[in-house]
Amino acid sequence: MPLLARMLAAPLVIDVRAGAVGGLGELLADRRIATAGRIAVAVGPTQGASIAAELEIADAEIFGVPDGSHGTAVLLGERLRAGAYEAVAGIGGGKTIDVTKFAAHMAGIPMVAVATNLAHDGIASPVSSLDHESGKASYGVVMPVAVVVDLDRVRCAPDPMGRAGIGDVVSNLSAVADWELATADTGEQVDGLAAAMARSAAQAVVHQPGSCQSDEFLTVLAEALILSGLAMAVAGSSRPCSGGDHEIMHAIDQLYPGTASHGELAGVGALFCAYLRGGDEQAALISACLYRHGLPRTPADLGLADKDFAAAVALAPGTRPGRYTILERLDLDTAAIADRVEDYGRAISG
Ligand SMILES: [Zn+2]
Repeated sequence: MPLLARMLAAPLVIDVRAGAVGGLGELLADRRIATAGRIAVAVGPTQGASIAAELEIADAEIFGVPDGSHGTAVLLGERLRAGAYEAVAGIGGGKTIDVTKFAAHMAGIPMVAVATNLAHDGIASPVSSLDHESGKASYGVVMPVAVVVDLDRVRCAPDPMGRAGIGDVVSNLSAVADWELATADTGEQVDGLAAAMARSAAQAVVHQPGSCQSDEFLTVLAEALILSGLAMAVAGSSRPCSGGDHEIMHAIDQLYPGTASHGELAGVGALFCAYLRGGDEQAALISACLYRHGLPRTPADLGLADKDFAAAVALAPGTRPGRYTILERLDLDTAAIADRVEDYGRAISG
């Protein structure tokens, strides 16, 4: 009988718990990721020193990751190659993990992602997003061999970064709805498994009543971010987690850099797209979730005037050519966008 199934590349280990950083040496040895002890550890600028002190890995070589640039990633990749390490652990926020993923791919060694905040869904994805001289680019890389989330570290992450991943996960609901629109209008196929993983992850967070102070909520959020990364790996693209919501996020980033973090912008983009699609139930769910966690929902919450947000909505489709979403379906002109943005602000605040 033919084997009618697909094989999925996935991390060997997922470890979400308090004190996970301290157990890293054991994990590397027990799972035979590194047996001779030649391990490199890349740490970010914020928590780097304290993490290095907590690690119980003899002879681990520590590398600082000062920023999230392509240049830093290439430099680290060269140092990993020169040192002939067995494995590298990237410990920190999104930038440190993305730099380490790229460098490990370049050096051809396994990479362990250790997240110290829950800002976005790049923790377990096979994508590295890096800054370069002309902006930002996404590079396909090998998926982390293990994904570790230390709840102790996540709990202490600076606000609102620690909560922003909620917006990124919730945007899956909008992204999958956009994907279904594409099926109806252009015949693009939805990958049912990827959609199931992305949507279930978002539903778990939306319906989890706890706050970021509770380990139960943080565990659900961490697992949802990991599942989102795996959904992208299954789909072979960011489609299950990125629709008009992320197009708006990219446009705001381009027009008004530094406005807010990836996850915060994705949350606002998702709510605006849900409003545009007219899905009242989905908009109400997303709105209530963002509000409950103190995340922005409107242009004013982001510190943007309605007209500036409208300019970002107009630019949004151009940030991701070929991706069909509610923005492409409606194809609104400038005046129509201004009307919808004004009405949106009233609907959400009212
Ligand atoms: Zn995202």
